Parts: sequence; structure tokens; C-alpha cells
Amino acid sequence: MLHITSFIDGKFVPPISGQFLDNVDPAAGTVYSKVPDSDARDVDAAVKAAQAAFPGWAATPAAERSRILLAIAQGIEDNLDDLARAECIDTGKPLRLARTVDIPRAASNFRFFATAILHFHSEAYRTDQLALNYTLRQPRGVAGLISPWNLPLYLFTWKVAPALATGNTAVAKPSELTPMTAHLLADICNKAGLPPGVLNIVHGLGSKVGAAIVAHPAIRTISFTGGTATGAEIARTAAPLFKKVTLELGGKNPNVIFADADMETALATGLRSSFENQGQICLCGSRILVEKPAYSAFVERLVERTTKLKVGDPLEEDTDQGAVVSKNHFDKVMSYLRLAREEGGKILCGGEAAKMSGRCAAGYFIRPTVIVDLPMQCRTNQEEIFGPVVTITPFEGEEQAIEMANGVPYGLSATLWTRDLNRAHRVAERLESGTVWVNCWLLRDLRTPFGGMKQSGVGREGGEEALRFFTEPKTVCVKY
Ligand code: NDP
Repeated sequence: MLHITSFIDGKFVPPISGQFLDNVDPAAGTVYSKVPDSDARDVDAAVKAAQAAFPGWAATPAAERSRILLAIAQGIEDNLDDLARAECIDTGKPLRLARTVDIPRAASNFRFFATAILHFHSEAYRTDQLALNYTLRQPRGVAGLISPWNLPLYLFTWKVAPALATGNTAVAKPSELTPMTAHLLADICNKAGLPPGVLNIVHGLGSKVGAAIVAHPAIRTISFTGGTATGAEIARTAAPLFKKVTLELGGKNPNVIFADADMETALATGLRSSFENQGQICLCGSRILVEKPAYSAFVERLVERTTKLKVGDPLEEDTDQGAVVSKNHFDKVMSYLRLAREEGGKILCGGEAAKMSGRCAAGYFIRPTVIVDLPMQCRTNQEEIFGPVVTITPFEGEEQAIEMANGVPYGLSATLWTRDLNRAHRVAERLESGTVWVNCWLLRDLRTPFGGMKQSGVGREGGEEALRFFTEPKTVCVKY
């Protein structure tokens, strides 16, 4: 059985403890590889390698860093099939999705930041006829990068690419539930000519490896994507150490549909935004709000389409819905389905595990679920479930739509469907969300700031924001 190894100083190394964890294929419910159970000692070795590599990498001309990052992007594209298959087996997501979205977007992350760094500029300010101030933006040293399991390579590279492009070195930890694509990326980095120690990948548990990265005194920058509770713990550790931190956390995103919307597109996109990747995308619209005149027809048509989604082996081309990521997560989502019933919700489709056969007989499959008749304040409508579960609630008029959309502790993204241009701008402005999509969903321009409000996080990633996050501004004032 394959034993994945960490990647430290350009070499593939086993954990110092010698211990490994099981890596489970969630569609089969079986162990298919082993992942290092690393600890603070491995993190320390990775930090030493990253510190040693930092002066050389920081002094490397931007054009040369750019060339290497572009070679990594090319390496991802050249290995697209292997990476997509690895991601599919690690996560249980349909192979088609990994091949067409996750892996190509990982390559785009490298391409984007490899070229963005060539245009990164700093400012100058003249103080009357007295002095010239200019701002140096310098890499901060060793960055700690921690990413979750739902879009493993995409979110991992979303951090690695800007950190490296700006001249930092990094110690990165993917989720131990989905380590395989990061493992393959390490080999691609070596082949692309990335100097040893610039990127170090330490596999293992969040409670050991993640916590050691956050607490390490030599790591002054932390970029984290994951759950809100973990984000709060990281903030508690990092604040007294004065680290620069960005936290991309959970969501309970509203999908607001006005009666004048193009219903066909709202339905087709709403189906995707509810259930893509089994609802395990932080940007999924898990609360659909529909204006009263359109409510009944929308519910009927969405349920009809949801029941037609094919739940099946993620390796099969015609599968729409694969497995959820783990037994633990399966249990969590199922517990929310019980809760929704207790809270008086009416389950119109799904609401149960999907029984599979053959290779997937012991896998973690849940039928896509549509729930109605729940008040907005109940737990099902307030807490992040992060599974193939969507609620639909009617509203009356703009004010109530905004009140319901904003009435949760989260504020990551929102989707808005209307043909009324004035209303689109008016409502978008009042939604408490880091991103508002109007008549679309998951359309991304990598130059835009990305992140959440309220309990969905602090700080922003993406474009210029990421380049600024990973650099330290220093003002130089020259009197003349
Ligand atoms: P977790 O918060 O459980 O884990 C995220 C990462 O942090 C994992 O690598 C995890 O390791 C690690 N970790 C866990 N505990 C600690 C700790 N104490 N210190 C440092 N690191 C730690 O999230 P999930 O992996 O369950 O991911 C799902 C969550 O991520 C959802 O809430 C989702 O909304 C959110 N998310 C947010 C996005 C955004 O952009 N805002 C995008 C995608 C997901 P391990 O796996 O070993 O526990």
C-alpha cells in the first residue's frame, strides 16, 4: 500500500514518529493509502528548511520566480488525469468535476500569481518639496498555509501560489483526509525546478501539525481555510504572537430568487449551487429564498430535478453526486437530517443515505435533500451543514429577502436572481456577504478580493489582496 511522505527541503521524508494514519476512499469505505501522522518535530524540520531557503528565494528575480511557477502550472496541466483521479478517490467527488473544475483551477492559480507578480507595484508619495516617501513590499519569511479537504488542490494552491510568487517560503498542510494531490504536486514542483525548501508540505492531523504551524515562532504569516471553530482557535493562538493571519471560514449562503428572475437559469444554476461536490463547497447556496408568487412552482421543479441527479460511483462519467468525504462527515450530515425533522421540516426528497452496490457498497453516500417549512431561526437554517442539503423558504418583498439573507452568523457569499437592474444593485449593496453573485454562481475572476464577513472570516485572499497579505509594507522617507 502506498505510504505518502511529507516533502521537506525538496525530499520525500517519512514522519519522525514513524506513525501513519489511514487514508480512506470515501466512495468505497476502504483504506487505500497511508498518510504521515507527523507532529511538531516534522514541522520544525520543515520550518528550518524554509528558513534556509528564504534569502535565496526572496532575492530571486520576480521573472525567474514567475518562470518556475508557470512551469508548475504546466506540470499540473500535463498531469491533469492523474491529479483528477487522485482527487476523486481522496474526496469521493465525481471525477468529471475534479477534471473540469478543481484541477484546472489549481493550474490557473499558479498561472495567475506567476504573472501577477510581474505587475505588482508599490507607491510613492511626495511630501511638498521636502521629501519623497516610497513603500517597499517585502516578503515576510516563512508562511504557514493550512487548507481543508473539500477542494484540496484548488484551495492548497490558492495559498501556495501567492506566498511563493511574492518571495516567501512556506510550510503547508493539506487536510489529512485528502493528502494525495498535494503529494503529487510536490513531485511537480521538483520537476519544475523549484529550489529545495521553498515549499515544504507536512502531512498529518490538524491538532498536531496544524497547531504546531500556528504556534511556531518562526512562522509569522498564517493563511487558513477551514471551519469557523478551527479559525477561532487559530486566532486565539496567533493573536498574542502578533502573526498576520487570514481566515477563510464557513458559510450559510443565501440564494435569493425574485419572482421576476429568469426561472430556467435560476433553477439550473440553483441545482448546481445546492449540490455541486455534494454541497461541500463553502460557496454553495444552502438556503434558497424564493419570492412568494414564484415559490410553489420553483419548489416543485427543483425537487423534480433533484430526484433525477444520479448518485453513484464518482469514477463513472455520468455520476452527478459522489460520496461525502468521510464517515464522520456522513454522520454529521445525517444528524442534521434528523434535526431538520425534529424542527418540523418537511423533507420533499432525499433525507436518507443512498445504498450502493459493488465497489461502493460500503461508501458514504447521501441522497440530495430538499427541505421546506422551516423557520429561518432554527438550527438547520442557521448552522453550516456542508452536505447535499438545501432548505427553501418563501419571502415577501425586498426588505424581507434582505433580512432573511442576512439573518445568520455567516457572510461568505450570496446569490441574487432578478431581471430588475436597479434592484440587483440595491440588494447586492445591502447583503452582508464577501461575494454577491447576480444571475450567476461560482463565476470567479482571480483579480477580485475573496473572503467572508462576520463568522465567515477575516482578511481577503485573491489578486492584489493576496500579494499584499504575503508582503510587509515598509515606508522609506527620504528628505531632499
Ligand atoms: P477544519 O477547520 O476541520 O480543517 C481545516 C484544516 O485545518 C485541515 O487541514 C485541518 O486538519 C486543520 N486543522 C484542524 N484543527 C486545527 C488546529 N487546531 N490548528 C491548525 N489547523 C487545524 O475544516 P474542514 O477540513 O472540515 O473543511 C471544511 C470547512 O472549511 C467548512 O466549514 C467550509 O465552509 C470551510 N471552507 C471555507 C472556505 C472559504 O473560502 N471560506 C473554502 C472551503 C472550505 P485536519 O484535516 O487534520 O483536521
